[in-house]
Amino acid sequence: MDAINTSITQLQLADTDQIGLIRKRCTDQGIVSVSEIAEACEALRQKQVAAGLWCYENYTESGSHSEGLVKSAASSASRHSVIWPINHYLGLNRHPEVIQATIQALQKYGTGCGTSAMSGGHNQLHKDLEHRLAHILRKETAILFPTGYSANLGAISGLTKGSDSFVLFDRECHASIIDGFRLSGCKFLPFRHNDMADLEEKLRNHSQNYANVFVIVESVYSMSGKEAPLREIVQLKQRYPFYFFVDEAHAFGLYDVGGLCRKLGVSDEVDFVMTTFSKSTASIGGVVATSRAFKSMLQVEASSHVFQATLTPPDAATILAALDVIEKTPELVQSLWDKTAYLRQAFAQHGFDTGKGVSPIVPVYIRDSATLLQMGREMFKHGIFTTAITFPAVKHSEVRFRFIVNASHTYEQMDQTVAVMAELGKKFGVI
Ligand code: PMP
Repeated sequence: MDAINTSITQLQLADTDQIGLIRKRCTDQGIVSVSEIAEACEALRQKQVAAGLWCYENYTESGSHSEGLVKSAASSASRHSVIWPINHYLGLNRHPEVIQATIQALQKYGTGCGTSAMSGGHNQLHKDLEHRLAHILRKETAILFPTGYSANLGAISGLTKGSDSFVLFDRECHASIIDGFRLSGCKFLPFRHNDMADLEEKLRNHSQNYANVFVIVESVYSMSGKEAPLREIVQLKQRYPFYFFVDEAHAFGLYDVGGLCRKLGVSDEVDFVMTTFSKSTASIGGVVATSRAFKSMLQVEASSHVFQATLTPPDAATILAALDVIEKTPELVQSLWDKTAYLRQAFAQHGFDTGKGVSPIVPVYIRDSATLLQMGREMFKHGIFTTAITFPAVKHSEVRFRFIVNASHTYEQMDQTVAVMAELGKKFGVI
């Protein structure tokens, strides 16, 4: 134990250090034992809790909503706050029709399914959901997973297995995508974010060496709200043969009920359309929509489908009911876009850098980790709750707050948030 403490002391942790960097700092200084690295993580957590800077693990005591009681993990204080980290873009987790359908499914089908889809876990709701999703996502068929994370992990690892496969992925892709091809043992390379010249150069230089080339992107990027140039990528398919996999987590239900691929009319050229149900459809689960042949392959190769219990009946019912609401209430989706434009403009008017996106994911770049944590602490005291995005989710120079607009946010909540941010932005020299 003494040896461990000595090593951690050598690290000289500042209370504004980024937790995501601890492992690297340890290994750089020759601390390689996982127990010691764990002790270092805990030491930093304690330090940040004591300074009121620990920015993770805050929770909504009153549940996901646009406003409510939030508990700070750092100070244990509860504060009535405007809530911004929730991905339920349309606020459907509180919609009476969605809640009613979920209760009915619970009563009819029970709480869980008890096994995987392949071994009998599916019921009529899952079958209806698969058909509905294949139709909405404009593909022949669809395969369900218990979460979006396990959809990417299972489908991508299953598809890209072996040395014959090569993955080119956008540098800003989500961890579930990266974990997927890392697990498969294939060769992979990132291309610069949304940079078509870089993607084309890498296709030109590498694609002929492999039997199977995959290009993987998100249609809307989770940390910045920026859209991928899907049409341009599809055009590259005419010159270089590759399979195109698109993660629609942050577009499904918003851009069009079927996401950005469908809105742009490129669904036929996209071989795999993946999305999650934890965002606009206010539930949990994931899907990959594709051809019948690829579904058959994934039913064998995607371990998280084959060996994992399927999503629960209430989850499936929530998704189906949420899709009904989305399809019959276009004004709800429109109100989300109106509010998004309002918030983006309000931040910009005060001189904040919100990047180049247009989506309801509104980043406010702070670019310095210590300032980010200190501002986060002050924001909480002012009743504003959002996530500080730190390394490794984003580069060190790009740390930011992320505000996720949801159709149930009010204009007053947005004004209150921007006013607090403007005051703190000036105090910390960000604007
Ligand atoms: N893909 C993207 C782009 C995401 O942002 C997320 C979750 N944040 C996932 C996949 C994983 O989805 P889930 O959290 O629903 O498992």
